[in-house]
Amino acid sequence: MPFLRSKVSEGGTRKAIMRSTIPPWTPLAWNSIASGVNPGKHGVFSFHKVRKLEDKFVTRLVTGHDIKYPRIHEMATLLGLNAIAVNLPASYPPESSICHPGKCVVVNDWAAPNIRIYPKELERKYVHYFTTSLEGLKLKGSSPSAIESIAKRAQQFSEGVLNLLTNHDWDVAFLIFSETDWVMHDNPEFVAGEKLEPTTKVFNAVDEFIRKSCNLADNVVIVSDHGFNVCPYMINIPFFLEREGLIDITFDEGIELKIMGMRVPPKLIKFVKRRRRLAVLAHKIVGAVRKDFMHDRHVPYSKAKAIMPDAGIIYCAPGYEDEVLAALRKIPGIREVIRGSDIYWGPYVHDAPDFIVVPNNDYCVSVGKDKPKTQRNAAHHRDGIMIAWGKDVSKLSWKDVFEPWDVGTYVIALAGMPIPKNADGFIPVKEYKTYNYLVKWRIAKKARRIRGENYRSPS
Ligand SMILES: [Zn+2]
Repeated sequence: MPFLRSKVSEGGTRKAIMRSTIPPWTPLAWNSIASGVNPGKHGVFSFHKVRKLEDKFVTRLVTGHDIKYPRIHEMATLLGLNAIAVNLPASYPPESSICHPGKCVVVNDWAAPNIRIYPKELERKYVHYFTTSLEGLKLKGSSPSAIESIAKRAQQFSEGVLNLLTNHDWDVAFLIFSETDWVMHDNPEFVAGEKLEPTTKVFNAVDEFIRKSCNLADNVVIVSDHGFNVCPYMINIPFFLEREGLIDITFDEGIELKIMGMRVPPKLIKFVKRRRRLAVLAHKIVGAVRKDFMHDRHVPYSKAKAIMPDAGIIYCAPGYEDEVLAALRKIPGIREVIRGSDIYWGPYVHDAPDFIVVPNNDYCVSVGKDKPKTQRNAAHHRDGIMIAWGKDVSKLSWKDVFEPWDVGTYVIALAGMPIPKNADGFIPVKEYKTYNYLVKWRIAKKARRIRGENYRSPS
């Protein structure tokens, strides 16, 4: 990334480590960055929303309706500013954001049934930039052709975002590139800095985007929600839970998928999911048939005393906490097992995972069930990067290590916006105004519901 490299070496550019959430997974990290508060206040703890009913767990992907705190693009809207948000996790459906047509553009993220744009009339013009080569997401860096797809997606995505930035007014733009992450997964040699040739196109596309877009901005903040690590192996937590009799269900069981009123046999889902190319095709077909398709997973407590919706995040059946904790503590290679409520705080901390597993090797945990550990692989590392430059950067104070919510308040202050009243992040200015975005945001949501503009949210 020659442009970014040259920028980083300039005198006025600030550099720091961005130490991610525990675990360093996309939805909770980005939403902490975008809101300036910890997951106990914004309510997103993983890719999945987990509910414990009387007799079972029910899980599904998190959506924009699950978020409990305004993000930067919504804060800007509440102040009457213009904003653009692209690919922010938990932003589906895009109209779930508090935005006003003509003042705000939202393109939702990929962890959703499909990619859409708010306001809807922009979809025809722009959506193809964001739906191109999406198979790269599922394939990750598994083959040269998959990496080609990812590079193509990075180029198209950049072009789409540049068009948005040049054709629409904005005061704040919050843009997330995922392709740099996709290409590193399954490729420990890239992470180790070996055989990097195939990744060049992906990183060049992002570098080019930074070069072109930073001419449009007064201030630029570049942040990654995590770094990458080479894992000699990744620990398959479910393998150990099954051995202790705490799980009696395969990952794909419990999925309820109905197409045109017919239930798809779980065995077929399992067969397809194991084959990457076939899974990509099946996803396209299902997406074409049911545009809003989002499945629930039902896991009865009789089949599992614990579930791990995402690697390292554990929810327990009522009354089984002690047994699950004892089993987790016995797993070799685990440094610590922490309670979600011990590291996060706020009104939604009761939705936090019962336990979060911290491996010796950050953050080498996986979801397999058939063997205790995987082969050498790449995994997220909690340490990401934070870089800032621009006309106002020298007026703000800086830290050597940012937590995700620190990034949020930093960006809010850099944009000259008032600081949220109950923010968790550090405040990089001596004199500042505060604003109760949360209360205004709730009122705006309620007003929408009263006007009947709300969209059907999942259960
Ligand atoms: Zn990743």
